[in-house]
Amino acid sequence: MLNSIRAQLTLWYMGIMALVIIASAAAIYLLVARNLSRTVDENLTEIGQSIEANLHNEEADLVAERLMLLDPNSKERDEPEEDEQKKPNEPEFQTIEDAISEEISDLRFRAYGFTVLDQNGKLIAATVADIKLLDALEKLPETSSFADVAGVDTVFRVHRRTFILEGKPFRLSVTRSTAEQTDFLSSLRKVFSISIPVALLLTGLSGYFLVRRSLAPVVSMSEQAAKIGSSNLNERLPVKKENDELGELAHAFNALLSRLESSFEQQKRFMADASHELRTPLAIVRGEAEVALLKEDRTADEYRESLSIVHDESRRLSKIVEDLFILARADSGQLKPQFEPVYLDEILAECVRAVATLAEKRDITIEFLPAAEMPIICDEMLLHRLFLNLLDNAIKYNREGGTVSIAAESAENNYAVTVSDTGLGIASEDKARIFDRFYRADKARSRDNTNGKHGVGLGLAIAAWIAYVHSGTLRLARSDSEGSQFFIELPINRS
Ligand code: ADP
Repeated sequence: MLNSIRAQLTLWYMGIMALVIIASAAAIYLLVARNLSRTVDENLTEIGQSIEANLHNEEADLVAERLMLLDPNSKERDEPEEDEQKKPNEPEFQTIEDAISEEISDLRFRAYGFTVLDQNGKLIAATVADIKLLDALEKLPETSSFADVAGVDTVFRVHRRTFILEGKPFRLSVTRSTAEQTDFLSSLRKVFSISIPVALLLTGLSGYFLVRRSLAPVVSMSEQAAKIGSSNLNERLPVKKENDELGELAHAFNALLSRLESSFEQQKRFMADASHELRTPLAIVRGEAEVALLKEDRTADEYRESLSIVHDESRRLSKIVEDLFILARADSGQLKPQFEPVYLDEILAECVRAVATLAEKRDITIEFLPAAEMPIICDEMLLHRLFLNLLDNAIKYNREGGTVSIAAESAENNYAVTVSDTGLGIASEDKARIFDRFYRADKARSRDNTNGKHGVGLGLAIAAWIAYVHSGTLRLARSDSEGSQFFIELPINRS
């Protein structure tokens, strides 16, 4: 199950989405937490600053008040009756510590607490009730302007400022409980702990359905492909969308099926044609043997006649089997040409010599003017067969007393050989097919064995294959009522 592409894609999708979601959630959480504590710190600082400014004002007021108390005129003018018990030369001064304590106790900031310590660490004013916090504030090192301090039930964020009043340093601490902040962050964590798994589940499900939908054509293609066998090679895969990747895959697969079908058809035709061609000579051999065996008293001439027929048909059978063997090995890639340096002019001369007797029988003249030396890298045996097949045809399909001409010349990198005859030519409708296997232009005539025309239609197919494996070409250059001309081009060197 996990090996299926569907499961693997879904897991990948889920994994990547999990990374993205968790990373985003973590980033959001950190950002919120940082913003919250920055806002708290800013508020603490602002409040601390304003208290410090107030205390400085208090200090100024105090100085002014003292000056007034020391000035008898102003005292009489300002407070004539009220302060009767006090002696005029003993004015009562309010200390700065008292002023601070008064100012601090008057402060009304919800959720904020304040303490002021003097230079000896003595608590002058406090609106903080938490004993643990108070205790910790007294012990806090002087250097830190912000700190987290544990109270009885909660942790406090503390901002500390040192300022000088009347030449004495004081330390103000503004505190605020972090409970609200912690609660908010813990709610955020709770939301994430529920929403992330839900989001992942939804992602997984949607990913699975998406992948399933996208791979559905592949599944149907593979099901369809599994049904295609040798008996229904004509069937094709459905192509839903022409231009997407799966459409291209289906097209490529269908093209492969077409190629397979045509080569399968070719093989079937080849087998059928081959067995058909083998059946005729075998039937003749068997028939002839049966006739010879049936009759008890037969003359020596009659036996010779029968044996001669059996001999001819056996030769024909051997030729067919040999040709089939060449083509079968060529198709399977087993027949590898053995390239070696030889002379083309010598190969042509040998082939002309080999068909001389056949030509003589039909009173056919072979015109071949040995050309200059033509060195070539080729498979000698295969080239022999190529030219023998062409010469054999040029004689077989020639008129009695006709001519066969062979000319060879060298071009820049190639040798061009032409084999011409003075036969009846090939009908236009046959020209395109004479290189096909088992194709005979005039079947009735080709089967007619009386003048040696007993081809099976493999000669030109083999010749064309030999030219092909030599990186050359073989084509029918001309064919009309005057005769036919075949043109062979072979590269001189193999690169
Ligand atoms: P085959 O064994 O029948 O000769 P080939 O493959 O050599 O088979 O030739 C295929 C067919 O092409 C022949 O049956 C014949 O009808 C035609 N053909 C080939 N060469 C010639 C030629 N020189 N002149 C006329 N017809 C030819």
